[in-house]
Amino acid sequence: MEETKVEQTNVEETKVVRKKKEKPNLKESIYSLLPEELEQWLTERGHKAFRANQLYDWLYVKRVDSFDEMSNLPATLREELKASFLVKTLETIIQQTSADGTIKFLFQLQDGYSIETVLMRHEYGNSVCVTTQVGCRIGCSFCASTLGGLKRNLLGGEIVEQVVRVQKALDETSERASHVVIMGIGEPLDNYDAMMSFLKVINHKKGLNIGARHITVSTSGIIPKIYQFADEQLQINFALSLHAPNSELRSRLMPINKAYKLPDLMEAIRYYTDKTGRRVSFEYGLFGGVNDQVEHAEELAKLIKDVKCHVNLIPVNYVPERDYVRTPRNQIFAFEKTLKKHGVNATIRREHGSDIDAACGQLRAKERKQETE
Ligand code: SF4
Repeated sequence: MEETKVEQTNVEETKVVRKKKEKPNLKESIYSLLPEELEQWLTERGHKAFRANQLYDWLYVKRVDSFDEMSNLPATLREELKASFLVKTLETIIQQTSADGTIKFLFQLQDGYSIETVLMRHEYGNSVCVTTQVGCRIGCSFCASTLGGLKRNLLGGEIVEQVVRVQKALDETSERASHVVIMGIGEPLDNYDAMMSFLKVINHKKGLNIGARHITVSTSGIIPKIYQFADEQLQINFALSLHAPNSELRSRLMPINKAYKLPDLMEAIRYYTDKTGRRVSFEYGLFGGVNDQVEHAEELAKLIKDVKCHVNLIPVNYVPERDYVRTPRNQIFAFEKTLKKHGVNATIRREHGSDIDAACGQLRAKERKQETE
């Protein structure tokens, strides 16, 4: 640990620790394992299978941070676990609380990289927005997270632990993290196996027990992985970051559209809705003067008219590193009204944490800037 600081800003912000950046080989997180996988690991080493339940209880019910605290496990087993796994791989560097209750965390990973996780308050519960990659290689033109490129994929356990860390913060007020959205930094389908492992662990009754219908996976549109995900036939919510009603505009906003073209993407989405029987959410960020005109809404309604879907309209925050500006309020409502006129289900997403660094990647971008100063 290099330094310990406490800083106050206009919002409640606590800066705790900063470790030296280094790149050791990654040790596996114990949170990557399902109970049955733990059981197998234990029995292969001559331990009783029931120890897996005890371990899961320490991890997900008592939520301890070290193997040393697992007092009903034999000392020899604790040593073996320590040699193979870490319990705590995330160190809280910054925790910011907004006036609306949104909490934004900046965590440092075991190799020194930092990631963001956000807790958002809704009427229906507390939702944790998790990160799946350090950086991102998709290159969306409006996104701060992609500025430094992709550094590495997160382990499944590192994604699970984000929810555990947030739950531990909520434990102080006896609240529960009831929902999870995979919409933080990174493209989840670009880290498919870790994402699937994460989904299984947080959904497990002995784990955090978060219901499938309380989990949302969001993608920028990696077509082959959409087919693969559809074939999993999960009851999980699925969202596509669409952001444009035609190919030309989408390629400008999201270069992935050049590799995975809009007509093919829509076909993959139709496959998903047919295969799962579930509707899809289209995420549509409104960028002032770019994609937010009534004509765009008309075009969007036409594009998705035969898809079982819902549209989330997201008035984008100003991103300092990018040129986009906010859409005026009256125009946001005009866009929504046009979609509804065509029978499209649409809602305007409420902003969370607008008094803190709320846009995807802003906190991490700020931290990276500080690191280079
Ligand atoms: S919006 Fe998502 S997919 Fe696009 S660059 Fe940012 S993190 Fe990657």
